[in-house]
Amino acid sequence: MAIEIDNNEKKNRTFDIDKIRNDFPILKQLINGKPLVYFDNAATTQKPLSVINKIESYYKEINSNIHRGVHTLSQRATVEYEATREKVMRFINAENLSEIIFTKGTTDSINLVASSFGKKFVKEGDEIIVSQMEHHSNIVPWQMLCEEKNAHLKVIPINDSGELIIEEYEKLITEKTKLVSIVYVSNSLGTINPVKEIIKIAHSKNVPVLIDAAQAIQHFKIDVKELDCDFLCFSGHKVYGPTGIGVLYGKQALLESMPPYQGGGDMIRSVSFSKTVYNSLPAKFEAGTPNIEAGIALGTAFDYINSIGIENIFDYETDLFNYANEKILAIDKLIPIGTAKNKSGTISFILDGVHPHDIGTILDFDGVAIRTGHHCTQPVMERFNLPATARISFGLYNTKEEVDIAIKSIKKVFEVFI
Ligand code: PMP
Repeated sequence: MAIEIDNNEKKNRTFDIDKIRNDFPILKQLINGKPLVYFDNAATTQKPLSVINKIESYYKEINSNIHRGVHTLSQRATVEYEATREKVMRFINAENLSEIIFTKGTTDSINLVASSFGKKFVKEGDEIIVSQMEHHSNIVPWQMLCEEKNAHLKVIPINDSGELIIEEYEKLITEKTKLVSIVYVSNSLGTINPVKEIIKIAHSKNVPVLIDAAQAIQHFKIDVKELDCDFLCFSGHKVYGPTGIGVLYGKQALLESMPPYQGGGDMIRSVSFSKTVYNSLPAKFEAGTPNIEAGIALGTAFDYINSIGIENIFDYETDLFNYANEKILAIDKLIPIGTAKNKSGTISFILDGVHPHDIGTILDFDGVAIRTGHHCTQPVMERFNLPATARISFGLYNTKEEVDIAIKSIKKVFEVFI
């Protein structure tokens, strides 16, 4: 089944869902005797064969440590690893390679900023702004920093639909605000935040902004220059790449003004007991041997996305999301959690009288993998007075047929429990 993308500039391209599904070996498997329906993409995405093969070929053909070796294998591995930096730079339209720092993932990227930016710029009485819908990884590092510096964490509230209350945000910014750190797309509500507006407001008061793009980068085009964000973070494993690799984008001048995060090999130009000189960007923030195979295979993941086109992925997923949203919300006694006007990737819900874990277990009998729990967003659960939700989250290989299978299975939950 090939869906034509019928808009002028893309008229010769197709989104061949059968071919795409065929690229992901894990999708061919049966779970509990049923074809796997993988709807836990917000937790991690599956990997195309090209990414899996790249990891294998790295170990079979070029395994060696990077940056320091003069021998051929080391140089090959270095070239491939650094090629990913360039692919990421192009993908998000960064200005240059110095602005792309490899980390372990979104969590690591945010911790890097909290630690390094925090050390340099945050003093007693200062303020950091986050929102009520942040993932724990965009809350706890700031709490730790505030505790250490005697600074204050301020929180933008959300309304009943799961949208940020922008008027409240404007009131929270003061001359003491040092950073605003905001999620682009909520992993538990699916809300797409108006980050461009948020950045504009912060910049009008000279406050830099970090964007957590962990649930955005895989779904739609991100242009850091157009957004004008100061930092942007994401994880490789949510964008069809490996675990253990992520990215911190930062504007060069800002990254240059910040001290190193960790000390060790690679982040230095020279070391002596009298004086150590740090390396320039991006090495300054990349101490120690990195996750080389994951870095290289992340480049393959971006090649894969580029071969389809992020705009085509967006068009396909938007159609799928709208189909799913309409049908899932029509289920009797299903209560959606997060009904923002602008949503992407994720549908959270509860069924009256059923614990979400029971929904997850029954769907698993039918081969449908969804996530249940607080999704590392306990303040969101508190806001909606819930212990947990059930969450369906989409990837580029999901189909309307799979949505129908999930819906049939959700209806079965009522037969068992109600
Ligand atoms: N932010 C958001 C919005 C997320 O969805 C996640 C992962 N669920 C993270 C941050 C943390 O990502 P990681 O665990 O890959 O560091």
